Amino acid sequence: MANLQNGSSKKRLDVVVVGGGLVGSLEALYLAKRGHRVRLYEFREDIRKTPEVRGRSINLALSIRGRTALRDVGLEKHIVESYGIPMYGRRIHRLDGSTYNIPYDANTKQGIYSVGRTYLNSLLLQESESYDNVERFFHHKLIEANLHKGSLTFLKTNTNETVSVTADLIIGADGAYSSVRKAMLKEPLFDFSQKYIEHGYLELCIPADENGGFQMPPNFLHIWPRGEFMMIALPNQDCSWTVTLFMPFIKFKNLDTEEKLLDFFEAYFPDSISLIGRKKLLEDFFGGKPSPLVAIKCRPYNVDNKVLLIGDAAHAVVPFYGQGMNAGFEDCWLLDKLMQKHNDDLSKVLPEFSDTRWEDTFAISDLALYNYVEMRDLVTRPTYLIRKALDDL
Ligand code: FAD
Repeated sequence: MANLQNGSSKKRLDVVVVGGGLVGSLEALYLAKRGHRVRLYEFREDIRKTPEVRGRSINLALSIRGRTALRDVGLEKHIVESYGIPMYGRRIHRLDGSTYNIPYDANTKQGIYSVGRTYLNSLLLQESESYDNVERFFHHKLIEANLHKGSLTFLKTNTNETVSVTADLIIGADGAYSSVRKAMLKEPLFDFSQKYIEHGYLELCIPADENGGFQMPPNFLHIWPRGEFMMIALPNQDCSWTVTLFMPFIKFKNLDTEEKLLDFFEAYFPDSISLIGRKKLLEDFFGGKPSPLVAIKCRPYNVDNKVLLIGDAAHAVVPFYGQGMNAGFEDCWLLDKLMQKHNDDLSKVLPEFSDTRWEDTFAISDLALYNYVEMRDLVTRPTYLIRKALDDL
């Protein structure tokens, strides 16, 4: 550890961030801003060179938690004013194809923003290039960790070599199936639970219209609530829509012929067929595979003053509240506030993060599970029709 150049008495930490997804990339920026040395290790190739990440949600809803965190690294304005597509409410598709709106906030017109995962992740990584104190290592998979010593071993997946590194601080931002967290399972008093729900998701797509425009009004999160299951759509910058079908796995399994699938869509999502296109619907449905949804709770998030879990590694939640990335971004913001408060003294920062963060993330996790019922079913109940009346005023 070296002292910082700027005359500050605080130590310049040597930090390794494991995982260069959304949260790890943002955390690298926060740490770099504080003047620490940051090495970011990512299992996959550089997302800036990958046109599409298969099997992951293509776009996400950015809310105020995430915006606040982006603000402090100077990226909120660009994302909100120049890039993201605002969604000011839900647009509900009834069985007969008619629609109505439920504003998120009719008075202030607040909204959430549809942003592309690849774009946002690339932007965060690109921004890190402007800091000399950040190094990025792609194709590096964490395979072994000695957390108390702060030492990690990575496999370079493109050459099959292994490399070992040590750090003052290890940030585990390696997602829901975190290897850093796996190493923490052996720690005494480390609580961990994971819950897979019986529903999975499959992504479909509504393309842009023949003039390159949106086929549906873009400033809404569109929902086809059908009681036990639902479909949603978020707008993309190229005027297409990412459509996500959430349904019990058993229902996915039963739709095993083209005829059954088309009959199912005719019965439950008839207005979406012409929007998606019959051929594309069949291609995308049978070309993909439903993915599982897991909720993970654990605590504490730290090991001594050496290791901290953030993002999905600490608290993967089901996506129905649109808060996974947002809560992960908020982790970075909160950690920065604690670093400021304790002058980067990790022996104070990490325990306080652990002690104060878990209640909020557990609550978000529970709310996210509840919101599936809200979105797929309760949203159609009469209370919400009152909101429709207000919306139509
Ligand atoms: P990840 O995005 O999973 O990134 C982890 C990174 O670590 C990956 O790049 C991975 O390659 C890398 N990694 C993994 N293992 C290793 C290893 N051993 N060594 C090195 N690197 C490793 N959230 C919202 O806020 N709003 C939404 O609207 C929203 N919609 C969603 C829709 C769906 C269908 C799903 C599934 C999720 C949604 N989420 C949403 C949640 C959001 O995707 C996650 O919360 C977010 O991606 C978490 O970011 P992360 O960086 O913590 O983890």
